[in-house]
Amino acid sequence: MFVYADNAATTATSRTAIDAMLPYFDKIYGNPSSLYEVGQNAKAALEGARERVAKVLGCTPREITFTSGGSEADNQAIRSAAAMGLRKGKKHLITTAFEHHAVLHTMKKLEKEGFEVTYLDVHHNGIVTPEEVAAAIREDTCLVTIMYANNEIGTIEPIKEIGAVCKEKGVLFHTDAVQAAGHIAIDVKEQNIDMLSLSAHKFHGPKGVGVLYARGGILLENLIEGGAQERGKRAGTENVPGIMGMTAALEEVAAHIDENAAKLSALRDRLIEGLETIPYAELNGDRTHRLPSNVNFCFEGIEGESLLLLLDDKGICASSGSACTSGSLDPSHVLLAIGRPHEVAHGSLRLSLGEDATEEQVDYIVKSVKEVVEYLRNMSPFWKDLVSGKRPHVFKEFVKG
Ligand SMILES: *Cc1c(COP(=O)(O)O)cnc(C)c1O
Repeated sequence: MFVYADNAATTATSRTAIDAMLPYFDKIYGNPSSLYEVGQNAKAALEGARERVAKVLGCTPREITFTSGGSEADNQAIRSAAAMGLRKGKKHLITTAFEHHAVLHTMKKLEKEGFEVTYLDVHHNGIVTPEEVAAAIREDTCLVTIMYANNEIGTIEPIKEIGAVCKEKGVLFHTDAVQAAGHIAIDVKEQNIDMLSLSAHKFHGPKGVGVLYARGGILLENLIEGGAQERGKRAGTENVPGIMGMTAALEEVAAHIDENAAKLSALRDRLIEGLETIPYAELNGDRTHRLPSNVNFCFEGIEGESLLLLLDDKGICASSGSACTSGSLDPSHVLLAIGRPHEVAHGSLRLSLGEDATEEQVDYIVKSVKEVVEYLRNMSPFWKDLVSGKRPHVFKEFVKG
């Protein structure tokens, strides 16, 4: 059986998105900045796409900037808020310890440039509270940026309430909604969001294209200088096919959000219940305030990479927040942020289901993970120490019962 359970890493491009792109490769290939018809037709499609994306998000077309993806949108949002803050002498930013690296690495750079950053605690359940945000805001705070849903553990943050706190205190609020899009209905005005990032390839659109929503009145800083595309705020010939594919994909996921969430959360819970029957394993992140697609477990006495390789042999594509997969030796900063000790953070497994997942696939995943965990533990000297009592267990034998 082949099971693609890594939809938080990227999703398959939908037929709808591919069909929406094709005409812009082979017929309407003009440069939107050109005056003749094939260029102007591309321009009209581009501006139509801007209106359609704005409609899904509940904002005006002028508030939409097309980017090369989620990372660029995060960078531009934070850099813009920092520049606006600097002009008013405000050099403090607030975020959480478990953001995506597109946010965290931008923050680290700003710290080197003289800004001060507060990293809020996300606690054991992976959720930050509006009260904690309120308490961290200072006179010189120029931005609060908190992700809508976490890419590793899937926890959903109280975005509307955090946005209300920021609004009341007059501080800009950005959210990285890359993982939320397609799973949670977004309305930027209703949810008090000033800036928001999206990435097409996380909701069945193509790779290399995204959206930055910035409320009217927010002056964007250019990350890329050059031509006057995107109202002069993002130079470079627009990725018209990508934007058309992204727009079609966004409309499609938005139209099916409730039915997909209902279907996926039932499968997610079945998967969680199945994996909880493995001894010395624990779910990461809050059980209910999590994306309908996301399951993330830590297993004692397991190396994440070995688990992934053996699951790959069984046709299962999954991911782990640990060493080799992320290209660094440290375990996932997200798992450390929710208080997992190093030794169990190395044994994590993220399964992110797609809308076409089935009960048979979920049951196959549970069966396979059980087999692989048992096999790896039997070979592990570390596990032998746990069994003999030489080392103490971190987790209880079973979470339930
Ligand atoms: C994937 C992801 C990004 C980066 O998006 P790209 O389009 O791949 O640059 C940013 N934030 C989160 C939460 C993500 O999951």
